[in-house]
Order: sequence, then structure tokens, then C-alpha cells
Amino acid sequence: AYDVLIVGGGPAGAAAAIYAARKGIRTGVLAERFGGQVLDTLAIENFVSVKETEGPQFATALEQHVREYEVDIMNVQRAEALVPGKMIEVRLANGGVLKSKSVILATGARWREINVPGEREYRNHGVAYCPHCDGPLFKGKRVSVIGGGNSGVEAAIDLAGIVKEVTLIEFGAELRADEVLQRKLRSLPNVKVITSAQTTEITGDGKKVNGITYKERESGEVKHIELEGVFVQIGLVPNTEWLKGTIALSKHGEIEVDAKGQTSIPGVFAAGDVTTVPFKQIVIAVGEGAKASLSAFDYLIRTPFD
Ligand code: FAD
Repeated sequence: AYDVLIVGGGPAGAAAAIYAARKGIRTGVLAERFGGQVLDTLAIENFVSVKETEGPQFATALEQHVREYEVDIMNVQRAEALVPGKMIEVRLANGGVLKSKSVILATGARWREINVPGEREYRNHGVAYCPHCDGPLFKGKRVSVIGGGNSGVEAAIDLAGIVKEVTLIEFGAELRADEVLQRKLRSLPNVKVITSAQTTEITGDGKKVNGITYKERESGEVKHIELEGVFVQIGLVPNTEWLKGTIALSKHGEIEVDAKGQTSIPGVFAAGDVTTVPFKQIVIAVGEGAKASLSAFDYLIRTPFD
């Protein structure tokens, strides 16, 4: 059994593991994909003290740092259930059961799907979610970005440097991205922005994407654009499906935590993008992971286990 079992191997989980291991307690990290969302990221320029790095490089550094300590890393393992108790159980998809005195949940988040006809059919055949991963596949082609928040506008700016033409489609009347990003976006000659538009279908020829259909929300008029790629950028969903009914979640499905990272279950803490903590960023996830780990240690030294 572990003293601290961390579920999730992104920035939050890695920080939690390092802080726990440095207390000399038995620490395990379970991750479906060690590195987390950072693996899908290209340039990272806002991790304080690291002027510039790239996602996969950052993910490798996270793992190397964790491996400096005595931590059991269980990669490519999925947690399916959490069973509260004095010894908390984490049940795995492979049938295994891990037991720990305390647990830190750091399962992060993933891209939200738009749920229109064509999205699933043409996934990886023109429908993409990660501009840094798939952008180069559309070199010289026409693409659309769905979503006018920070991720959508960042994606459009990024893609504009690679593809021939970007059409950004936003459901609301205005873009929701930071002003500085919007200014950048509007300065680009090959980007067109369409607001008040509801995407209704991603069309294809049976093999790959050939266009997108949207409804102008004011006029009700239906329009179609011919293009080769669609990047869906409408936000992140917390990875908490496996925790529903077990732990208190917000209406957005995020794990509710207090200032110490404590959840609704004694001995269970949470950190990073999966929680209610505002602003989903690496530097924040790292800080929250460290905090949850110190809170878990505090819990361990105050709780009798025999
Ligand atoms: P994640 O990184 O999401 O890690 C979650 C971990 O949990 C993963 O290891 C995952 O495999 C694992 N997991 C999930 N469910 C289970 C389960 N059931 N069982 C076991 N393991 C599970 N932030 C910045 O600060 N700067 C940037 O420049 C930046 N750019 C970004 C670009 C992109 C394309 C993306 C997607 C994100 C970007 N972010 C950026 C956000 C940043 O990546 C996240 O805020 C950060 O990764 C959150 O860390 P986390 O540890 O909370 O979660």
C-alpha cells in the first residue's frame, strides 16, 4: 500500500509526486499518459524561469525529475473507480486494485467535442483538436477553427502561419479571447472571422473532410465553406467521469477543492486542470500539485492508521 497515490502524470501529478517523495513516504503515480496535455503542446513560454521550451521536452523533464526520487511510476494505466475508506482504493481498467492512505487526483482535462454530424466520422481525416500536432498536415490547405476563446484564437494564429487560409467560426456575437490575441488575429491577412454562427455539420466525401456548414444565427441562413480541415477549439472537459457520484463536483464536472486542495472525501486531495481552481495553466497546476501533496502529508501525520 502507498502513503500517497497520485492519479495523473501531468504537471500537477508530477509536482505532487516530487513533493511527496521528498517527505520520504511511499509514493505512487498512476497515469494513462505520463506528461498529460503538455505532450500536445508546442511552445511553452510562460513557465516562470524557463523562457522557452517545447511540450514534449517539458514532459520529458517532468518525468526525469520525478525519476530522481523513489516513486513507483505506473504509466499507461487507467483508473476506473475510487473507493473511499480508511485505506482508499483506486481500481484500474486492467482489473488491478491499488490501496493508499491518501490519494491525489490530478487527471487533468481534455478538448471538448462539438457534437455535430461529421465530427466523429472524420476525426483524424480532417477533424483535429491539436493544432500543434496536426497543423502541419494541412500545410497550404484551407482550414476552419471552431471557437473564439483563447484556444480557438491561438489555434487560428498558429495555423495561419502554416495553412493557406483560416476561417474562425464563433457561436457568440463576439470573440471571447484576450484582446491582445484578437489584435494579432486581425492583423493576419489569411484569417477570416465569422461570428454569430452555429456550426451544424462537418461535411466530407466519405473519406475526408471537404467543408463545413453553419447557420447565421441572426438571419437563419445556412452557409457552406469548402475546406480541408476543421480544428475544434471549444474548451476543455475535466477528466472526472470515473468519479461521478463518489466525490463532490462542480456543475462543470470539476472536482471541488478548498484552499488546501482537500476534496469532499477525507484523505483525497486534488490539483490542476481537473479541479475548480481557476486558470488552467502549467505553472498553476504545478503549484497546486505541490500544495495538494503537502496537504496529504499534513493529513497523514495527523491521522492514526492502525
Ligand atoms: P494534464 O496535463 O491534463 O494531465 C492529466 C494526467 O492525468 C495525464 O497524465 C492523463 O493521462 C492522466 N489521466 C487522466 N485520466 C486518468 C485516469 N482515469 N486514470 C489515470 N490517469 C489519468 N499551459 C501553459 O501554462 N502554457 C502553455 O503554453 C500551454 N499551452 C497549451 C497548449 C495545448 C495544446 C494544451 C492542450 C494545453 C496547454 N496548456 C498550457 C495547458 C496545460 O497543458 C495544462 O494546464 C496542464 O497540462 C494541466 O496539468 P494537469 O497535470 O492538471 O493535467
